[in-house]
Amino acid sequence: MEVYWHDACLGHDTGSGLWELPGRWDWLDVPEPHPENAARLRTFRHALERGPVAPHLTWATGRFATDEELSRVHTAAYLAELRAACEARTAVEVNTVVGPGSWDAIRAAAATALAAYESVAAGRTRLAYALVRPPGHHAQPGLADGYCLVNNAALVAETARRAGRRVAVLDWDVHHGNGTQEVFRDTPDVLTISVHMRHGPWGANHRQTGSPAESDASNINVELSLGAGDTAYRRALAEIAFPALAEFGADLLVCASGFDGSAFDPNGRHNLTADGYRSIGRAVAGLGLPTVLTQEGGYLRGYAALCLHTLVEGLLGLDLLADPLAYVPDDAQLVDVDLARARSTLPTWDFARVTAR
Ligand SMILES: [Zn+2]
Repeated sequence: MEVYWHDACLGHDTGSGLWELPGRWDWLDVPEPHPENAARLRTFRHALERGPVAPHLTWATGRFATDEELSRVHTAAYLAELRAACEARTAVEVNTVVGPGSWDAIRAAAATALAAYESVAAGRTRLAYALVRPPGHHAQPGLADGYCLVNNAALVAETARRAGRRVAVLDWDVHHGNGTQEVFRDTPDVLTISVHMRHGPWGANHRQTGSPAESDASNINVELSLGAGDTAYRRALAEIAFPALAEFGADLLVCASGFDGSAFDPNGRHNLTADGYRSIGRAVAGLGLPTVLTQEGGYLRGYAALCLHTLVEGLLGLDLLADPLAYVPDDAQLVDVDLARARSTLPTWDFARVTAR
């Protein structure tokens, strides 16, 4: 497996405040770093470079995206506004901050994801992981949202679509992949699947609900109740996402890979464990599809790094690290209801009719 990296991704400085909110919080003795920060990505890299999975990985350097590449999924007006906003520290959206290093980071994240795709497309590897930031899956054609500026996963998918691939995007970040849903809203030949917690819309730049009511013939939302854990994700993939990928006939998979579904994440209310992420990796690898993964969320950096490590173990068929924090119970009593609700909005899909209970 190849891991794609670019140092410029570290130059996106999101500052500090009251957790993700920029500005002055004088009543805090020590402001909190913005959760989407450079230390987080450095920790992820370190885990893969120094952890027991290290000998199984090769590393490659990405590149900077061109304007033409970015314009495949974003409007020219949005990109011009974003570039201008990056000239000074600016909150482009309530909790999404940019500054002088951000434009290079944005371009590096985008084309490092493309470089990962190019390696898979050329047959040099079947699995490539773009370890990048800022994340992308909330970014819409003309809107920043939720720490996301350019939609890296959508850019890979659109580039592959233009090359004639039958592409599906599978998103297991704990938040709805609303940006990817919007990019491909009128593109039925790209399948988008998002498995996420029930969080609903959260503001002017995030009006999508993420509910199964937004599902259609090429978009599937699997909205899991708060508290969902390893069992819920395993079943959502096995009973909905994977049958959909097979019926759609995907020949390339793009995974929006977040670790904020972990039991210890401050930005999520789900209960995945490191073992659960290993199972996701194993299941995805079992599909046998050429696969490009882009880094999305995951904000308790130490545990998220462990989850990245175990996901990669799963992708490679390995079982190396024990989880020192694996004491959170997995409550699966709402899974049947959640999955039945997700299937009920998929009338055009054969698998949903066959497996409906
Ligand atoms: Zn997220």
